[in-house]
Amino acid sequence: MQTMQVPTGQHQLPMLPYAFNALEPVISSRLLQIHHDQHHKAYVEGLNKAELKLSEARQLRDFSLIKHWERELAFHGSGHILHSIYWTSMAPIGNRWETPGAQTMIHIMHYFGSLEVFWEQFSAAAINVEASGWALLVWQPAWGRLEILTIEKHQDLFQAGSIPILVMDVWEHAYYLDYQNKRKDYVTAWGQIVNWYEVERRLNLAMQAQMPLISGG
Ligand code: MN
Repeated sequence: MQTMQVPTGQHQLPMLPYAFNALEPVISSRLLQIHHDQHHKAYVEGLNKAELKLSEARQLRDFSLIKHWERELAFHGSGHILHSIYWTSMAPIGNRWETPGAQTMIHIMHYFGSLEVFWEQFSAAAINVEASGWALLVWQPAWGRLEILTIEKHQDLFQAGSIPILVMDVWEHAYYLDYQNKRKDYVTAWGQIVNWYEVERRLNLAMQAQMPLISGG
């Protein structure tokens, strides 16, 4: 098992795994650059700041602003995590699997019945997120199966313990420059650039996770 410990307040913006123009015409170079270099960067900085402020609070034994910094921790921390997964959920032609891998397919068929119905639910969930948020395919170790969730902002409505496998950003900043108010067009086009190789890889890793308090395992 890989162990990685990020020191307090030292999260870093991950590099995009492809060029800014690699996802055109589905996502333009300009949109991708602003999204990654500006928006994601702001979440990394917000997370670092929250962690450092909480560290300072511990040293001072002053928790008067705890409510504020806990909110910041959830918002920016989830924002950083989800964007990091989002970049790898997509890939350019020739560098992705166009269809789900064997493990992914087994679990999609088992729970959703068919790939078509799965995608129909996932798309509908994404289109119907109120204001800013995400659509996610998750592995829930507590139940031992996949589920589709939505998130408002970066943290609300999440089902505790679930592990994101595939995430779609439906904040306006993720599509407005290219699609204006037509979120549905973005969601439909986005289906063409899903990197199913990464979905399979993440699912296989997630399935190794245990939920001892619930499963008794
Ligand atoms: Mn975003």
